[in-house]
Amino acid sequence: MDASTPGSWQIVLASGNPGKLAELTALLAPLGCHVQAQGEFQLAEAEEPHPTFVENALAKARHASFHTGLPALADDSGLCVDALGGLPGVRSARFAPQIEGPRAGQDAANNRLLLQQMQGQTRRRARFVSVVVALRHAADPEPLIARGELIGEIGHVAQGKGGFGYDPLFVLADGRTLAQCGAEEKNRISHRGQALQALLPLLRTHWGWMPAST
Ligand code: IMP
Repeated sequence: MDASTPGSWQIVLASGNPGKLAELTALLAPLGCHVQAQGEFQLAEAEEPHPTFVENALAKARHASFHTGLPALADDSGLCVDALGGLPGVRSARFAPQIEGPRAGQDAANNRLLLQQMQGQTRRRARFVSVVVALRHAADPEPLIARGELIGEIGHVAQGKGGFGYDPLFVLADGRTLAQCGAEEKNRISHRGQALQALLPLLRTHWGWMPAST
């Protein structure tokens, strides 16, 4: 197949988080490229030892691209809470001590710890941050990098069943939590949605990948 046609574009998503994978797959849909999760290649999650989102996203994308031989896209994201000096930040996935078993258990423990740490706090402003990195191959010297953020507040109780992670505690300006938004609305406003909106023009300019309709 001709490498310049959308049907031949392939990308591996460097994540094992089902919530993230669903959002990224929907956000990449306009490109019509073939999107696969790294789990389809039996690839375990990469280490994320770095102090910044961009370094961790790069490490994850490089790991996925190295082991699959395909272009890769990674998101490193997290919740930065003003009153906690920006924590949990890059440690958002494992804020609470590590829990064995399904991811939902870890998410619930993280939310409990966050509520505990916010007890008595009147300053509740927080930001979700997402940095996405796309690599053509593991040694790509020109990674494409984009960033998005969403501002909100940490609620006092969990509300809503949608999304994943800290969504039930993340209160938007209209009083709903991110877990009370539909998937489509979340992708339109979220940090990850913003980062992908910023990445799409870079994919067009630098890789020649463009949405079918343009
Ligand atoms: P990582 O990017 O794999 O290090 O994980 C990011 C972590 O940040 C997730 O496991 C969640 O705890 C949190 N997080 C990132 N994005 C979101 C989101 O859209 N909603 C809720 N939590 C999120």
